[in-house]
Amino acid sequence: MPNPRRRHSRARGRRRRTHWKLANIKLVECSQCKAPKAPHKLCPACGYYDGKLVLDFEAKKKRKAEKKKKKGKGQG
Ligand SMILES: [Zn+2]
Repeated sequence: MPNPRRRHSRARGRRRRTHWKLANIKLVECSQCKAPKAPHKLCPACGYYDGKLVLDFEAKKKRKAEKKKKKGKGQG
């Protein structure tokens, strides 16, 4: 089995890795609220995808607040 006699220098490895870059993050406009969002992803601003409400952030917030209230009552 062939084995490397000596590994590459640190500089050589680092020079090779200078080409490891992240591609530019692409953003598209949300059709619902016009906020920038990632394509083919749920809009983080309004929770819509493909013109439909998928994740209701307001309702979720409300539910969380109510849960907190209930919990607080029991303790105090
Ligand atoms: Zn949106």
